[in-house]
Amino acid sequence: VTIPAAELERLGVLGHGNGGTVYKVQHKRTSKIYALKVVYDDGDLAARRQIFRERDILRKTDSPHIVRCYETYEKPSGDVAILMEYMDAGSLDSLLRSKGTFSEPELAHITRQILEGLSYLHSLKIIHRDLKPANLLVNNKMEVKIADFGVSKIMSPTLESCNSYVGTSAYMSPERFDPDANGGNYNGFLGDIWSLGLTVMELFVGHFPLLPAGQKPDWATLMCSICFGEPPVLPPGASDEFRNFMECCLQKEPSKRWTASQLLEHPFLIKYSTADN
Ligand code: ATP
Ligand code: MG
Repeated sequence: VTIPAAELERLGVLGHGNGGTVYKVQHKRTSKIYALKVVYDDGDLAARRQIFRERDILRKTDSPHIVRCYETYEKPSGDVAILMEYMDAGSLDSLLRSKGTFSEPELAHITRQILEGLSYLHSLKIIHRDLKPANLLVNNKMEVKIADFGVSKIMSPTLESCNSYVGTSAYMSPERFDPDANGGNYNGFLGDIWSLGLTVMELFVGHFPLLPAGQKPDWATLMCSICFGEPPVLPPGASDEFRNFMECCLQKEPSKRWTASQLLEHPFLIKYSTADN
């Protein structure tokens, strides 16, 4: 089934991002609710490049843990839009702010789903490169899905550097700052694992783990602590399995990190896996 753009009614704004806006829309004929991400023709070149990249990736992916794309639009005027499934509970970032921190069993449930999505992406040779709470969306069934592929990268089989993204994010792994430091042996997939580790730790402690609670990120300080500091560790009270899981993600040396499919077998996830999980 195709959904013509003219049959969509805008109900409100779900979020703003780099040069784009995400709307809550309703398909008038079926009354179904969707999310529509739009980049207007006057958006800058970087924003346009990002939405085309996101469109290309979402058209390729088919996983219960990647946000689903139903249609893409390109108007003669130059507006580009992607019609996605609506994730009615918002992002993990907004959930953290509204409901507070997550317990270990909740985090095991969330983390398993993110890892299912990541191991699927990595098997397609796609690196997300911007994994963080704001880019992980949730619905009322507590299904967690990876979204926002604007800076993702599809690795070609050639020996190409995957470090071409010049943007910055606090969740970036140490090797992203200096890929040559580890002998050019940089495996970009493991950068997503570092970001996952910081994300899960943030959901447990309630603030970005490389900064004290309430402190505004100052980029220079943050970069120093990522590159020269010790990786963050869980506070007292966390279980041994959880502590070890974090260590498997937050190794500064990428080759020491576990892959997504290895982490899916980690005791932390096994411990909390039940029939209803
Ligand atoms: P940024 O550059 O700030 O990360 P972006 O332009 O890349 O933003 P997204 O991260 O895809 O855009 O979306 C921005 C926000 O819009 C999300 O954090 C989320 O709150 C909301 N949003 C995006 N897609 C959906 C969706 N499918 N369902 C519900 N909300 C969504
Ligand atoms: Mg985003």
